[in-house]
Amino acid sequence: MTATSSVPDLITPTWEYAPAPEARDVVTIRPSHGLFIGGEFVDPADGGSFATISPSTEEHLAEVALAGPRDVDRAVAAARKAFTGWSKLSGTERGKYLYRIARLLQERAREFAVLETLDNGKPIRETRDVDIPTAAAFFFYHAGWADKLDWAGLGPNPRSLGVAGQIIPWNFPLLMLSWKVAPALACGNTVVLKPAETTPLTALLFAEVCQQADLPPGVVSIITGAGETGAALTAHDDLDKIAFTGSTAVGKSIQRQVAGSGRRVTLELGGKAANIVFDDAPIDQAIEGIIDGIFFNQGHVCCAGSRLLVQENVHDLVVDRLKQRLGTLRLGDPLDKNTDVGAVNSAAQLERITALTDTGEAEGATRWELDCPLPERGFWFRPTVFTDVGQSSRIAQEEIFGPVLSVLSFRTPDEAVAKANNTPYGLSAGVWTEKGSRILWMADHLRAGVVWANTFNRFDPTSPFGGYKESGFGREGGRHGLAAYLEPAEVDA
Ligand code: ADP
Repeated sequence: MTATSSVPDLITPTWEYAPAPEARDVVTIRPSHGLFIGGEFVDPADGGSFATISPSTEEHLAEVALAGPRDVDRAVAAARKAFTGWSKLSGTERGKYLYRIARLLQERAREFAVLETLDNGKPIRETRDVDIPTAAAFFFYHAGWADKLDWAGLGPNPRSLGVAGQIIPWNFPLLMLSWKVAPALACGNTVVLKPAETTPLTALLFAEVCQQADLPPGVVSIITGAGETGAALTAHDDLDKIAFTGSTAVGKSIQRQVAGSGRRVTLELGGKAANIVFDDAPIDQAIEGIIDGIFFNQGHVCCAGSRLLVQENVHDLVVDRLKQRLGTLRLGDPLDKNTDVGAVNSAAQLERITALTDTGEAEGATRWELDCPLPERGFWFRPTVFTDVGQSSRIAQEEIFGPVLSVLSFRTPDEAVAKANNTPYGLSAGVWTEKGSRILWMADHLRAGVVWANTFNRFDPTSPFGGYKESGFGREGGRHGLAAYLEPAEVDA
């Protein structure tokens, strides 16, 4: 059935919600944290530290060690030393460690969820229901692969690469750690991982889980610090592999740095995904998918559906419905179980979002934002929708990495594809239509690593994730993700 603009208004609830705060005392935050090198927590060589704060309250949470080049050296040396034993373990034995880690993540899930929410600002509903369970699922999934690598279709007896330097961003701290650490370990590599400077705490709690699981020392080391620490890690000449998730600008600099070194690299970078709604789409589900696509995790998602492409004859209906539904979202304390939209991760990110959205208005787009009070402290941005957006305007081209949606329209499938592909990125896309044949045709023509149909932002360890063009290369998850951590076996002709 084709939706028409005569569809009645949504009935929106008007009741108040009682506060439903998650207990914070399930987690004990140590006032200061060392670096996790060679299986133990150690002081940084230069004795430096930095603070991590709660973005929703600006409360100081802990001091975290600042790793310098000498610490990077120590961590890489520990990983190199551990590699010999770890890579020679049978896959079955490696799998046992990974299963143990996965189970510990499940057992301590509440602690991890609260800590992630405190350090990152995202709602507890998301850390509890998405981040932590999916991180555990990544370890379970890769534990299952550890003794089956010969049958992964990558040749017989594929070899591990060696030592991997891994750098992750702040939007899904523990989940991105699991995407990096689980496949690397399953394939027999050892790792040195650097979490983002604004969200180091769950990685440090994960270090405790490694100790609890009796993981051999040096198989996982965790060093904390900002860009300089990351650059010292990627510059280290005893790495066999670099895996990076973060901004396109840093990804490009890493690629320049390693050019010619023969080192293996995977880069998962930015995105500006199109979420495409045809006039035969189930509108109510599409509205939920649009909201999930861009307002989940405050829009701090590289595969976020930040460009909504709506077929012209349902444009007004979709935009009206969207605004009505957005009106029911609750922004505020991320530890409250009723909260839908939490805090922006940092003052710097809030500044970037604010600056880029200001250009939207300057370029002639019409701005609408959720009418809701903002907490007095912390970093907050109201869910925002821009209509009348031009193809070439900055808010249609650049990654905002915030709760900001740009709406454009199209008339034909060809036009939808042309507009969706008109971006330097190519990470993800969404298609909403009732026709299976159209879904397949669109998926064939969209230049995006992941295409979701009648859903959005679904993450599963069995499904490879990664981009084209300026969104990077290499895949994480699934059988394809194993290839990023294995040397393909040489097959006799
Ligand atoms: P964002 O701008 O969203 O913070 P970044 O790409 O700057 O994204 O950060 C992602 C991760 O990369 C973080 O862990 C950060 O510390 C790290 N990083 C930043 N600059 C560099 C660099 N020059 N080399 C290596 N890692 C870096």
